[in-house]
Amino acid sequence: MSDRVLVFDTTLRDGEQSPGVRLSLADKLEIGQQLVSLGVDIIEAGFPISSPGDFESVNQLAKQLKGVTICGLTRARQKDIEVAAEALAPAERRRIHTGLGVSENHLQHKLRMTREEALATGVQAVKWARQFTDDVEYFMEDSGRADLSYVYKVVEEVIKAGATTINVPDTTGFTYPNEYYHLIKGIIENVPNSDKAVFSCHCHNDLGMATANTLAGVMAGARQVEVTVNGIGERAGNTSLEEVVMALYIRNDKFGASTGIDTTQLLPTSRMVSRLSGMVVQRNKAIVGANAYAHSSGIHQDGVLKERSTYEIIDPKLVGAEKSEIILTSKSGRHGLKHRLAELGYSFSDERFEEIYANFIKVADSKSEVNEDDLRVLVA
Ligand SMILES: [Zn+2]
Repeated sequence: MSDRVLVFDTTLRDGEQSPGVRLSLADKLEIGQQLVSLGVDIIEAGFPISSPGDFESVNQLAKQLKGVTICGLTRARQKDIEVAAEALAPAERRRIHTGLGVSENHLQHKLRMTREEALATGVQAVKWARQFTDDVEYFMEDSGRADLSYVYKVVEEVIKAGATTINVPDTTGFTYPNEYYHLIKGIIENVPNSDKAVFSCHCHNDLGMATANTLAGVMAGARQVEVTVNGIGERAGNTSLEEVVMALYIRNDKFGASTGIDTTQLLPTSRMVSRLSGMVVQRNKAIVGANAYAHSSGIHQDGVLKERSTYEIIDPKLVGAEKSEIILTSKSGRHGLKHRLAELGYSFSDERFEEIYANFIKVADSKSEVNEDDLRVLVA
């Protein structure tokens, strides 16, 4: 099995479906260019039939972005597929992403089809899509709640029809890691032609397990991850790109798999998407949060200043951050204060430093953070 995991970014499609997010064409082009610099393999640019604006943005991204596969989403309908193919026509490399639900819930309540009807519809959709490109991804919506014997049957038949990537979405964020592992593993082991396709993890974060589930999928043999920058997406969001990429990087000892991502572009990409989408990144967000490399307690500051790896498993430079930050609060100690004063160009005799430290603690008790201006006042 290859150790290369493909990164399929759906910030511009699933991410844009976040309530409250609306990206303009210019925003999408800016983000798209940045995703190319970041090194993603596939950009899901939109759902072309859903609106003229979506068609236009998929079409423009297909025209302007080089060195990446551009993908358009469709339902399992001929018209959807034709419209997507038209929008994607100018792309260097194009992928059509089609499919439909496989859980009893979706078959009964949403699709109102029998299993056999749904399977035939899916197979036909793959055949239509293959008329326009040999890169066809098939999604089995709500796989996380579906009957396994039916899932295996669908995978086998759509691969026969020409699907080259099989997306196994946990659409509702219902599964847990061990379960998702066995879902992917079960498909790979039980479907006779599974070696003809790449399996893809598409997880949602309703129970906070999107990243863990995606990594479990990779462990089971999936070689594509569907992710968004900052984890934006429907409801509680999609799997976060930066978390999966850095987990594979930092824990390569366990996964033995890697991506083509330039990790130093992670923070700039996160900031751009946050600014353009209006979705603020929580301070304690893994990898890209403002506090991810910041230390305020005296014991941790002392450790990090002596040797960064005492309390940090990721070198901030790896993700494009400048350095670890020492944040001064009432929990900070002498070592941290001395360090910050030195950064401002100050050094003092021990006696003078003790005076400053005593005043620092008084100020720190009255506010959440002692900033540079406060330090200058203290010294003055
Ligand atoms: Zn989704």
